Amino acid sequence: MRRIIRHKAFGQGDMTSFAETSIQYLKGVGPARMKVFERLGVSTIEDLLYFFPRRYEDRRKLTPILDLKPGEWQTVVGVVTAKGGRRTFFNKKHVFELVLADDHAKVYCVWFNQPYLENYFHPGDRVVLYGRVDVFKDRIQIVSPEYEVLGEGDEGLSTARIVPIYPLTRGITQRYLRRVVHACLEAYAGALPDVIPEDVRARQKLEPVSESIRQIHFPEDQASRDKAERRIGFDEFFLFQVSVILRRISLVQKLGTAHFMPPAFFERFEKAFPFRLTGAQKKSMAEVSKDMSMKRPMLRLLQGDVGSGKTVVSFFGCLAAVTNGKQAAIMAPTEILAQQHYETFVRYFEDGPFGEVRTALLKSGLKKKEKEALCAKIREGVVDVVIGTHALLEEGVEFKALSFVTIDEQHKFGVKQRAVLSAKGEGPDILVMTATPIPRTLCLTLYGDLDVSVIDEKPAGRGTVKTYHFTGEQADGVYKRVAEWVAKGTQAYVVYPVIEESEHEDRKAAVAMYERFCKDDFKNFKVGLVHGKLPRAEALRVMAEFKRGKLDILVTTTILEVGIDVPNANVMVIEHAERFGLSQLHQLRGRIGRSEKNAVCILLGDAQTEDGRRRLEAVVKTGNGFKIAEEDLLIRGPGQYFGRHQHGLNELRVVNPLTQIDVLEAARKEAMLLVKSDPLLKTHRVVRDTICKRYPEYLERVLAG
Ligand code: ADP
Ligand code: MG
Repeated sequence: MRRIIRHKAFGQGDMTSFAETSIQYLKGVGPARMKVFERLGVSTIEDLLYFFPRRYEDRRKLTPILDLKPGEWQTVVGVVTAKGGRRTFFNKKHVFELVLADDHAKVYCVWFNQPYLENYFHPGDRVVLYGRVDVFKDRIQIVSPEYEVLGEGDEGLSTARIVPIYPLTRGITQRYLRRVVHACLEAYAGALPDVIPEDVRARQKLEPVSESIRQIHFPEDQASRDKAERRIGFDEFFLFQVSVILRRISLVQKLGTAHFMPPAFFERFEKAFPFRLTGAQKKSMAEVSKDMSMKRPMLRLLQGDVGSGKTVVSFFGCLAAVTNGKQAAIMAPTEILAQQHYETFVRYFEDGPFGEVRTALLKSGLKKKEKEALCAKIREGVVDVVIGTHALLEEGVEFKALSFVTIDEQHKFGVKQRAVLSAKGEGPDILVMTATPIPRTLCLTLYGDLDVSVIDEKPAGRGTVKTYHFTGEQADGVYKRVAEWVAKGTQAYVVYPVIEESEHEDRKAAVAMYERFCKDDFKNFKVGLVHGKLPRAEALRVMAEFKRGKLDILVTTTILEVGIDVPNANVMVIEHAERFGLSQLHQLRGRIGRSEKNAVCILLGDAQTEDGRRRLEAVVKTGNGFKIAEEDLLIRGPGQYFGRHQHGLNELRVVNPLTQIDVLEAARKEAMLLVKSDPLLKTHRVVRDTICKRYPEYLERVLAG
């Protein structure tokens, strides 16, 4: 927990005081609001200054209602003249309608499943709405627009300008947030310290930081905002890069094992598989073997779309270690995946072309005795390859001679876990595998501490995956088609975002739908259900049944994302697709199309926003994971893309690194210059203190002393 000073003493231009002064001293923020702010991750002045808008609305252009054009996203202002709520006859959905009028015309607004809006709006309220205009039964309407009731006195912040739109949480409105942020800027922005060394600032022609923070929140115009974004982006990238570079230097200074691989090694390895390795797999293996043959530890990121065959490359590294008399470990993010890797490895190598390879599966469900026995074996070196989950990270797990480590699905683990695992060997070679594609330009910079291999080729002989989008209303028809396909022998997944109908009543939960499917749509088939709250053993059992073909249809929540490999499953329905991230959809889709047969992925859902619509379109249009990743990053920004708190990148507060590649590169160049001239940051105390605080996991040992 962070300690927050609760008095108002405030040192001029000192970042520490910004980071330690509670926001409760701002006008309008009392103890109750503090709690709400905490949900947004904001408790200090610094947090709030860097709590950036999600997007902006140009309300300098308000469209008169009479001029609204169907199909376009527009902003209107008007007065509420009527409102009302009801439930639909068929499915009892709640519908709330509002009539908004200006001097010449009126527009209808409709929201579904938000009954609380009935009490939110009042006739006579002046309201700003932003949304996509359409025509329904001859009337002009906007479905689920963004809304804001205008009050007296804050017109200046909320209308007739470029208006910031912040991420919200319950109990806070845009209008309120704008007022508080504005007050905070007035009081503190002027005293913001500048952490970037002066020579760097001059060379890069950076704007002053105080002004940039102001412009990020309340931009005068597009150009000022761009400049401000560049400045803030530079700061963030620069500090992050310095950390990454320092970390890399400290890692490669260690001495590990120089593995020896005779020429026959490759041939023997290839022959173990019933298929031919792809060119991309061979290329990655060559890169891995070159790294592994050197004494300095390998630090390599292996990127490849789901199903591209990354596991083979990992096995290659394991066998290199084992034939050199050392041990190897593979850490997977879920038990199901660990189990799968284990089974695959045993199938090909336990008693294969490399003689006996003693392999063990380490999972958290083991009984105490079993676990102790296994740990003893690992410690004594009686086990060569250990495959497991994060259970591998536990203290009791010690190796005799660990020289190769694979971390599968990197974005589920943090830099810290990487460090813990590698500390169990002596400078072991590390292969980090991820199916979350990262655009090349970004990758070079963001994973500056890793070298990169890419598998950009799918194994031959795979069918195609076609993707379609249907709306929620068309669901019944979709289920019918799925039933037809399953009747012909394929297996199918139906995927849901959540497991219970608690949060939103419209969310068709996996459990409820499973019951409906069994009774109705899929009553002629065997249907299974897997979700996150199911006991582990039960989930594994159901998945195993599906894999063995004992079940025809598997209803599941997202745990399957990194889960099973079932070649005969060639149909996937993703419900509420609009609630998933783009890359997540792509990952899910990667679970089908794993055999020579063609596969179909159906996205069911109603996009509520323009972003949402773009997201679904992008997934329908392209099967290229890298393109999708780029689009995803553009739409959502890095925080959401990579998941929270798992990557130094999440700490970056810039709006969007993809649009700022040039800034990224400039920052990286400057960071390298700095580290070269002052490797321990002795004459750059401010930089040093700031990054130690912000990226401790990168620097724990690096700058010690
Ligand atoms: P991912 O990159 O998603 O981890 P996997 O390594 O799990 O992919 O491989 C997916 C499937 O493809 C597995 O069933 C694996 O046996 C198979 N596979 C891997 N490489 C090839 C190849 N060169 N040719 C055919 N099938 C392959
Ligand atoms: Mg994998």
